Amino acid sequence: MNKEDPKKELLLCVFERLLKAYGKRNWWPAESPLEVMIGCILTQNTAWKNVEKAIANMKKKNLIDLHALRSIDVGELSEVIRPVGFYTLKAKRLKALVDFLFDEFKGDLELMKRMDQHTLRKRLLGVDGVGPETADSILLYALEKPIFVVDAYTRRFLINHGLFDGRAKYERIQAFFMSNLPEDTYIYNEFHALIVYLGQKHCRKVPICKGCPLESGKT
Ligand code: SF4
Repeated sequence: MNKEDPKKELLLCVFERLLKAYGKRNWWPAESPLEVMIGCILTQNTAWKNVEKAIANMKKKNLIDLHALRSIDVGELSEVIRPVGFYTLKAKRLKALVDFLFDEFKGDLELMKRMDQHTLRKRLLGVDGVGPETADSILLYALEKPIFVVDAYTRRFLINHGLFDGRAKYERIQAFFMSNLPEDTYIYNEFHALIVYLGQKHCRKVPICKGCPLESGKT
């Protein structure tokens, strides 16, 4: 342990406690990088169970495929992904992402993966409907780049511990994790997923600290 750097020690300790308590979360649940990317758009402002229904509909119609997604029109795609809500908007966003993948990488995700993380993030943020959380989820979970994803559960966890207030900017929170953890795709992947699970079980708006793996005194 590094006595000169308490934040590093603290974050790794939190990670290890959560991992010990909950085990590996195996996130993101998908059969391919393209399916992850699709899920990253569909999950915006909706519960994951709705995304599962939409993805199942897409699979029935063989739409987890870049060429099929390029050909289908927005109206038809909207109907397929209806369970996720805001389906016309999300169909347009999916089409925008697919256009981007063809325009920039000829539809080759391996080619995309070879681009450096900083440049790729900037380019992704230029796609309609792709904000920082969606871009970083694509980078981390579809392309295995070492970048930390910040979401509402992450914010709530930090607010509940008095580490940030509700107005903290996305990049500031991201930098907090990335400068205090090793640059490691596995840790970023697993830690984010563990924080989500913690937020669902214990660290709610009104936290249920009793029984939480991070309740003081537990090891
Ligand atoms: S539920 Fe309580 S102990 Fe657990 S992480 Fe949230 S604030 Fe901390």
